Amino acid sequence: MAKVLIIAEHDGSVLNPSIAKCVTCAAAIDNAEIEVLVLAASTAEIAAQAAEISSVSRVLTIERAENANPVTAILAPQIAAVAGDYSHILGPSTTYGKDLMPHVAALLGVNQVSDIMSVEGSHTFRRPVYAGNAVVSVAAPEDSQLVATVRVASWQAASGGNSAPVEAVDATVELPSHTRYIGLESAASDRPDLQTAAKVVAGGRALGSEEQFELIYKLADALGAGVGASRAAVDAGYCPNELQVGQTGKIIAPDLYIAIGISGAIQHLTGIKDAGTIVAINKDEEAPIFEVADIGLVGDLFSIVPKLTSALS
Ligand SMILES: Cc1cc2nc3c(=O)[nH]c(=O)nc-3n(C[C@H](O)[C@H](O)[C@H](O)COP(=O)(O)OP(=O)(O)OC[C@H]3O[C@@H](n4cnc5c(N)ncnc54)[C@H](O)[C@@H]3O)c2cc1C
Repeated sequence: MAKVLIIAEHDGSVLNPSIAKCVTCAAAIDNAEIEVLVLAASTAEIAAQAAEISSVSRVLTIERAENANPVTAILAPQIAAVAGDYSHILGPSTTYGKDLMPHVAALLGVNQVSDIMSVEGSHTFRRPVYAGNAVVSVAAPEDSQLVATVRVASWQAASGGNSAPVEAVDATVELPSHTRYIGLESAASDRPDLQTAAKVVAGGRALGSEEQFELIYKLADALGAGVGASRAAVDAGYCPNELQVGQTGKIIAPDLYIAIGISGAIQHLTGIKDAGTIVAINKDEEAPIFEVADIGLVGDLFSIVPKLTSALS
């Protein structure tokens, strides 16, 4: 039987929706017993949310003041300390999981399987390679623990309605002092989170400036959508790095993706492979984005986008 431990990503009070998707992935492993581990300064509220996810048999908590912020160097030794009984340790392939899970794998002395898209056996998984242009089956050794990230865009969230027991566990490990939390600088936003938004409006290099990128925010607000960007728009400083979609940005799966002034480079398309309806606005009818778009508007974004926004407002 597989014993799976899922590391809970959260913001201090709300469980990240990626965790319910990790549970669906874990449930695809035959005879999996699924537990969720919450590390926080105050765990009760987050643990209660994890306990509601169907198929979760137990929620474990480690409550320490040092866990107030998600510092990998602090969290990983605690996870490694309680990981002993588990055959599989999973985390989401979000920025949090991509940072944390390799550290956990290193402490446990195993390799990591990244971006699980589907489960073929208890230690055999499918995952994307070459910027999503190919999918391979990876078989990990069955006689050692498996640490992996789950490609959240590939999985539906497990339903709620459960009431799994919650138990505090003791992880009295010495924590390193070489890495400390200093502070967080992030742009406050009321918009839906890019990685979980049902609708995303994204802008590319064609926006031309930070001021003109406002057109993207305005359309997103009219639609109640999250905001994304191409790497070219981020590199040019039109918008913050955390908005980047693609191979070296976020992999997302919204129901609706509107790409504005984005050419559709393969590295960008990697980030939206699982999107539902893709709408592209581009003045070049030969732009590769039109090959994947369900709806294409050929024209000047500076004329189309303001009209769309005012029609929706
Ligand atoms: C290792 C590696 C990793 C990468 N990772 C990523 C990644 O994660 N995400 C990512 O996005 N890119 C990534 N890239 C970069 C990628 O290759 C492209 O350079 C980038 O996506 C291009 O961004 P863009 O489409 O905004 O710009 P461009 O390719 O310059 O396209 C701009 C588009 O806007 C259109 N346009 C211009 N003016 C207008 C107008 N007025 N109205 C309408 N349309 C207009 C043009 O026709 C063009 O199609 C990566 C590259 C490498 C090598």
